[in-house]
Amino acid sequence: MNVNIVWFKNDLRLADNPALHAALQSAERILPVFVLDDHMPAIETPGGASRWWLHHSLSALAADLRVIGAELVLRRGEASHIIPALALETGASAVHTARAHEPAMRAVDKQVATALQVHKIEFHRHLSAALFAPERITTKTGGVYGVYTPFSRACFDAGVSEDELPVPTNIPGVRNIASDDLSSWALLPTQPDWAQAFPASWQPGEAGAHQKLAAFLQTAVGPYADARNLPGQPGTSRLSPHLHFGEISPRTVWNRAVHAKGQGVQTYLKELLWREFSMYLLWHHPNLASVPIRSEFANFPWADDRAGLRAWQRGQTGIPIVDAGMRELWQTGWMHNRVRMIVASFLVKHLLIPWQVGEAWFWDTLVDADLAANAASWQWVAGCGADAAPYFRIFNPVLQGQKFDADGTYVRRYIPELAALPNQYIHAPWDAPEIILTSARVTLGRTYPKPLITLTQGRERALAAYRQISKSGQHD
Ligand SMILES: Cc1cc2nc3c(=O)[nH]c(=O)nc-3n(C[C@H](O)[C@H](O)[C@H](O)COP(=O)(O)OP(=O)(O)OC[C@H]3O[C@@H](n4cnc5c(N)ncnc54)[C@H](O)[C@@H]3O)c2cc1C
Repeated sequence: MNVNIVWFKNDLRLADNPALHAALQSAERILPVFVLDDHMPAIETPGGASRWWLHHSLSALAADLRVIGAELVLRRGEASHIIPALALETGASAVHTARAHEPAMRAVDKQVATALQVHKIEFHRHLSAALFAPERITTKTGGVYGVYTPFSRACFDAGVSEDELPVPTNIPGVRNIASDDLSSWALLPTQPDWAQAFPASWQPGEAGAHQKLAAFLQTAVGPYADARNLPGQPGTSRLSPHLHFGEISPRTVWNRAVHAKGQGVQTYLKELLWREFSMYLLWHHPNLASVPIRSEFANFPWADDRAGLRAWQRGQTGIPIVDAGMRELWQTGWMHNRVRMIVASFLVKHLLIPWQVGEAWFWDTLVDADLAANAASWQWVAGCGADAAPYFRIFNPVLQGQKFDADGTYVRRYIPELAALPNQYIHAPWDAPEIILTSARVTLGRTYPKPLITLTQGRERALAAYRQISKSGQHD
């Protein structure tokens, strides 16, 4: 009886899953396994919100597998030991898994490959998380793209296959293999349960992913090009955690979007390619999460502003759009992309706090925390990444709020203490006359904080800091 192991990573789905499909082609029995690897560096260990998601996603996958005949085996420890040991225990002839993009996970894959080779067990890594293998997208001279637009053109030229792999109807499993109990991993928060509001926004697992996609393509993809910038409206797909955990394949999302009707389709495909570009950057810059691509930023004169950081994390900076974003993140495990850019820019530029510190907070609090997208986006905002927004272009959070949340819907949702302010002052309460503040029951410094820093002061301080690293005049 030939056994193949399917080692699930961030491909927690049955549909269009290349590792699962390939394993089923060449074995009579399948052992599906997930390993919680405690020995990964902190930078690749899931944060709190991701662990909440992982618990529910594994539970959904286990239930889906059980329906078609297989038990998901859960093991905790070093994957580099556990996978080869399970292969020997079951007499497996091959292990199939998703290809990793993250550096520590890539190293683990290599160790597993070496250990399996000793026993002449095959090891197959399948492209699963990305649309394109990173080495497939090269410049005309075979080089690496550093700029998004030509990269995205090359992706459009390469094309995405329409052939998706079917959901298996029957997976003959292997019996009597010991598995951990998911609850023993304690992935869920205990007291206080900061995730109690998450289920109102999310249904982790493959079914939830497909529902989100269908709902988006039915109603929101049409106006997406404009609506995606308005945090008060449900204008985006909210697929990011589902895509991160691989509950739906990027190929499925791409193909369904291509066939959907609506003006926003092209813009949506381009956003999917930002995700692709992030993975590509991480592949070519394995230190993306800690080291700025533009090396002069290694000497940036950052501030050690712990009080500022704490106020930012808690949504108490006194800048309404920033605080609304940080509270949305805490309450739902997600933040709208426009607001992610605003809060990140405020931290890095107005507060001069290193982007890696903001990146770490996002890593712990986002349900879609993704090493590639998070690192690439923080570097982009900080001006030190590939194809980044120039550092000296500093977002004014008040103007951003007035433009993208003109009627204050978003700010009022997350900052109820400002809800009674008229639209004119909702993004800059410090400009409101005393009588307006009083009638809205707002006392700055008491019911809502005064701004941590005036925006002009913060902007000038940021530009002065930037001048210190750009004295050479290479990057004005
Ligand atoms: C500072 C900062 C940190 C971020 N950290 C993460 C992160 O950890 N994980 C993450 O998935 N995204 C991250 N993003 C990118 C983006 O904010 C989210 O992908 C997006 O908000 C998810 O919402 P959505 O699924 O509704 O997006 P949609 O607008 O519906 O886009 C569809 C999909 O495209 C991808 N995508 C869209 N924009 C980007 C982008 N700029 N970069 C990479 N992929 C993108 C996502 O997978 C998303 O689900 C970050 C952005 C910023 C500015």
